[in-house]
Amino acid sequence: MEATDTVGELIVLQEIDLEIIRIRSELGALEEEIEGLVTTVEEFQEREAKVQAKLAEADERVRRYQRSVEAGRDILKRLETRSSAVENMQQHFAVRSETDTARRNLKSAEDDQLSAMQEVETFKADLAEITAELDAAQAGLATRTAEVKKSRKSLEGELDSHTSTKETQEERLDGKSLRLYRTVSNGRTESALASLTSDGCCGRCYTAVPKQRQADIRAGRALAICEGCGVILYPEVSDA
Ligand SMILES: [Zn+2]
Repeated sequence: MEATDTVGELIVLQEIDLEIIRIRSELGALEEEIEGLVTTVEEFQEREAKVQAKLAEADERVRRYQRSVEAGRDILKRLETRSSAVENMQQHFAVRSETDTARRNLKSAEDDQLSAMQEVETFKADLAEITAELDAAQAGLATRTAEVKKSRKSLEGELDSHTSTKETQEERLDGKSLRLYRTVSNGRTESALASLTSDGCCGRCYTAVPKQRQADIRAGRALAICEGCGVILYPEVSDA
């Protein structure tokens, strides 16, 4: 096979390879997108669980202070009964002092209960907000998962078809040229081939190509590699 024919076949092979790279990168991007949406849902779930735990704790505090308030009211009632039955000034002052303390304790328990109730309200509002965001994130994930499933199926179909076209195209090339192409294109996501410029440079990196090699390339005698960037060089396409 003439080198010029080989170059033509390599260009076709490369077009197929670039399509395969494009499809794989699209598949990768879709996978990343879904992973990102899953992470967002999981973050909301974590936040929701934390706020639920805080809400449960605050509820427990409200109940605990409620018991203190009730106990405090019982104590005051008992002190009222005692105060109506005092027999001397000493008892009167003792009951009054205990009543003052009991009132302070009750007031403090009532304040604590009120602030715990306010915390409950705050956590409930936070929870409602997070739950709404979680619902939206879950709905978004479900929608995108269904869409991505379709896109994937279509991309995978394209990939299968390009893979079989690639095999057919590879069979058209001689082993040596194919190995060279594979070495050059390995790991590249852009063109493994470049044309010579009209002034004899690599069309990719503009490294000057020695005169003799330029002549070989133009005559189609051999495949040549650019010394600058390593791509396979082929004759310039004339604009005429
Ligand atoms: Zn180059």
